[in-house]
Amino acid sequence: MLKILYRGPLESCNYDCSYCPFAKKKNTREELAFDRACLLKFENWVSQQGRGISLLFTPWGEALIRKYYQEALTRLSWISHVQKVCIQTNLSGNLSWTARANPKTLALWTTFHPTETTVDKFIGRCQELMQNNIRFSVGIVGKKENFPFIEELKDKLPQGIYFWINAYKREPNYYSDADENWLQKIDPLFSFNNTIYPTQGKGCEAGETSLSIDGEGNVTRCHFIKEPLGNIYHQALDTMLRARSCTNDCCRCYIGYINLKELDLNRIYSNRILERIPLEYH
Ligand code: SF4
Ligand code: SF4
Repeated sequence: MLKILYRGPLESCNYDCSYCPFAKKKNTREELAFDRACLLKFENWVSQQGRGISLLFTPWGEALIRKYYQEALTRLSWISHVQKVCIQTNLSGNLSWTARANPKTLALWTTFHPTETTVDKFIGRCQELMQNNIRFSVGIVGKKENFPFIEELKDKLPQGIYFWINAYKREPNYYSDADENWLQKIDPLFSFNNTIYPTQGKGCEAGETSLSIDGEGNVTRCHFIKEPLGNIYHQALDTMLRARSCTNDCCRCYIGYINLKELDLNRIYSNRILERIPLEYH
């Protein structure tokens, strides 16, 4: 099975998170038309592949407020060799389309943004997903000002939903021991995220069983190493896939370190690794 992270040219969001370069950024009509054309071309390419594929869409900004993403994900979810269709989302958009998607393959990676919505509204969106039998994880950035929201979310999220916390790693020693213990109790996998992995020369699945692809079909092993491996519209996939070692000094994001061979995180997430749901929450 091949994992593909897709990021098209979209660069816009309806939310206004203060730390984010895409906050309230708008795309022009022409830019959105180009993003849509890239997505449709990619969908067509996926439909023609003769191998199992799992997809994670990692847009710059929010894609699920766009009908063309909702429709493409719905169609992709019903393709027999597509084993997973996931997307990172702020969960603000209309969710009625999820009732038409295949609940066995569609899954959402959702993030709560405390300055942009309320816990109760967000929980209401989660309940809509549950009514449509769509699997999802819920997460938040673990900044200290978010701690009250972490507490509230933990109390109010329906049982059985995995709640991840992305460690704030920009400031060294940001957390006290007490903070770390508290966060670890809420997210039992917090310590994996609260680590910057030294990865130079280490074996990584990226480039072997996982690829990143942009809107024009250009392939890199992951989102963090820009060395081009080819283009899906000009070359066969097999010419690009082989075992590789990491050439970066470190890897710090979930969508990167899940590929690090020494961590063997498949033992924890199995086939829910792209939507970030550990096995025990299945
Ligand atoms: S929801 Fe995500 S993409 Fe949008 S402004 Fe907030 S952090 Fe940025
Ligand atoms: S360890 Fe991270 S940065 Fe290095 S190749 Fe793997 S995913 Fe990319």
